[in-house]
Parts: sequence; C-alpha cells; structure tokens
Amino acid sequence: MRLGLATRNEHKRREFARLLPNHAIEALPEHVRLPPEEGETFAENALVKARAAARATGRVAIADDSGVEARALGGAPGVRSARYAGEGASDEENLRKLMREAPAGSALRYVCALAYVEPEGGERLFEGTCEGRLAEEARGERGFGYDPAFLPDAGPRGLTMAELSDARKDAISHRGEAARALARWLEERERERAGVALENIKKVE
Ligand code: IMP
Repeated sequence: MRLGLATRNEHKRREFARLLPNHAIEALPEHVRLPPEEGETFAENALVKARAAARATGRVAIADDSGVEARALGGAPGVRSARYAGEGASDEENLRKLMREAPAGSALRYVCALAYVEPEGGERLFEGTCEGRLAEEARGERGFGYDPAFLPDAGPRGLTMAELSDARKDAISHRGEAARALARWLEERERERAGVALENIKKVE
C-alpha cells in the first residue's frame, strides 16, 4: 500500500521504510506545510500531522510523534523532546540538557504514537514504547536524537541505542513496535476484504 509519511525528519523516514517493507513509504511533497506540534499528547500531535498530509495530498498518510520521557523529570521532555533546549535546538543540545538534568542510571522511556489517516476520514492510532536508562556518557554514532545516551533495557548490556545496528534498534524500538502494529492491522484488513470479495463472487456464481 502507498503510505505518505508526514515528516521532515530523514532519520524517521529511513526507519519507517525499513519497518514497513511491504508498503511504499512516500515522502511528503515539498509544498505541504506541516502544522506546529502544539498538542499535549503524542497521539494528538501525530493525528494533526497525518490529517494535514492526507488533506493536502488526497492520499492515505501516516505520521508519528515521538519523544523521550525521563522519570526523574516527571515525564519531561515528552512531547517537547525535539525542542527541549529551545526552539530550533540541535539533537546534541537537547541531549546535553537531558544529561544535565536527569541523573545517570535513571529511568527513561521512548514513546511513539503513529497515526494512520485516510483522506475520506478513517483514522487509527498505534503506540509503541521502549524502556531504558540514562547512560553516564554519550556513546555511538548511529541513530539520532537521544540515542547516544539511551541504554535500552532490552538491548545488549551497556550498549546505547546509538551503538546498535539498525536491525537491533528496529526490533526493540518504540517506532518498531508501533509500525509492526500498523502493519498487522493493514494485513488483517486486507485479508478481511479479500474474504468478503470472495464471498461476493461465490454469491454471484
Ligand atoms: P517529533 O516526533 O518530530 O516531534 O520529534 C521527536 C523527537 O524525539 C526527536 O527530535 C528526538 O529528539 C526524539 N526522538 C524520537 N524518537 C527517537 C529515537 O528513536 N531516538 C532518539 N531520539 C528520538
């Protein structure tokens, strides 16, 4: 299925292309403006982005909103993860601020809300989480955002998310979990539709 991905984040686009290999992940046309992320929840922000893309392109769109929640900071930065150190802050600035404010070893959680929106109005939401801890120092060159300081509980001991291969990150990540839930739902729906079509053919015969 063709799925327009409402993001300007190249890392996320690459991850979704890997995570949904049976679907054509299409980049958002340049002229489409994404609305500002002003919601208080990941779900709200994901829906707003996917709705805007579906409306502007007339095609099915998906969008994720994601971020990291630090237990020691009452869930911050949360929906503000991309701009934690200020509007337009770099990944590195955001990461440094988190490492200043939360103690090493304290609990972190990545969250991903993934919205699926049809131009005719159909909508679905999928969620994924990934538990981990804050590393003492940033390590690793892969991934993006907070990955160099995120020690996933489900990963090999002592390795940050930025030290894992793409396949290993995908297998345990919040985005992986949400994308697999979307893929399962699309497949089930396809099977149901194929079943109904077959029933109709039998009735005509
Ligand atoms: P948004 O979903 O575009 O609002 O931004 C999500 C922000 O959360 C990113 O800019 C990162 O800072 C952080 N984030 C989300 N997913 C990941 C991930 O898989 N690794 C590292 N950081 C992430």
